[in-house]
Amino acid sequence: MAKIGFIGLGIMGAPMCGNVLAKGHDVTVYNRSREKMAPLVAAGAKGASSVARLVEHADIVITMLSDPAAVWEVVAETAGVLSALTAGKTYIDMSTVSPESSREIAAMVRKTGADFLEAPVLGSKKAATEGTLVILAGGDPEVARKREPILLTMGSRVVYMGEVGLAAHMKLIINQMFGTLLCVFSEAALTGMAAGIPAEKILEVVQNSIVGCPAIQIKGKDMLGEKTFAVHFPLKLAHKDMRLAVLAGDAAGVPTPVTAAAHQLFAIARERGFGESDVSAVLRALTDK
Ligand code: NAP
Repeated sequence: MAKIGFIGLGIMGAPMCGNVLAKGHDVTVYNRSREKMAPLVAAGAKGASSVARLVEHADIVITMLSDPAAVWEVVAETAGVLSALTAGKTYIDMSTVSPESSREIAAMVRKTGADFLEAPVLGSKKAATEGTLVILAGGDPEVARKREPILLTMGSRVVYMGEVGLAAHMKLIINQMFGTLLCVFSEAALTGMAAGIPAEKILEVVQNSIVGCPAIQIKGKDMLGEKTFAVHFPLKLAHKDMRLAVLAGDAAGVPTPVTAAAHQLFAIARERGFGESDVSAVLRALTDK
């Protein structure tokens, strides 16, 4: 059983770490807001007093943090991940970040002699809890093969994408399409409802058509009905991903007018106070009703 250090116990990190622990590994946890460590410590994990202490104790260090800035802070701060990494350890970042950020961090990690993998995930809170995430791996293929067993404690499938940056990029593609889809679904469904088509009818027909898909299956009923927007994937993080997708287009020289328009809707929903709500609250950029 490996010694695992897990940093970032949010909506995704806490259940992912719980699954690593449930497989019998020796797990140490750290979270900026310390109170989130308590349930995992109660379940058998050790609580670290700092990031550096966690890294010293671990063979494999995993982070699941909000965005590139959070990862940079945890990795490069004075007593951060880099300060305690040594040869023989592996650092795996599972956060959704930009390919550039991931590549820069990989270069710094490798200077310590440690190995690096990026491993962003597909699936939300439910898949994280059930251990059925699809995990995209980027980095040295040998390291990816060696560390696949630990990734499979959190997911049902690991897809090796190639060098560092490509898994980060693939994750952005999925969220770029998901975020944009929720925006156009909101526009189209609100228009249809204003014209007199009941929400249930819209959902029934959409789901039996070429544009029927899991995203609408999971989010559609609440968006057109009760509008609880119970958080699984915080809207503020989807906003971050739409921004990263536009920047990825800019870097590649590919115009992204549709994604840019969707990014604006996420910004509006966030300004209206829905940043902590579910991603599906992007509908609130278009209607108060
Ligand atoms: P979350 O619940 O907001 O958790 C974010 C975590 O990052 C928390 O542990 C938070 O610590 C930590 N953090 C943020 N800024 C930090 C900083 N400056 N220094 C140290 N720690 C910091 O988010 P989540 O939903 O678990 O998402 C985590 C990552 O997974 C994101 O990259 C997200 O895009 C990605 N993702 C999310 C989903 C989803 O459906 N939720 C699905 C796939 C991928 P505190 O507790 O102290 O705030």
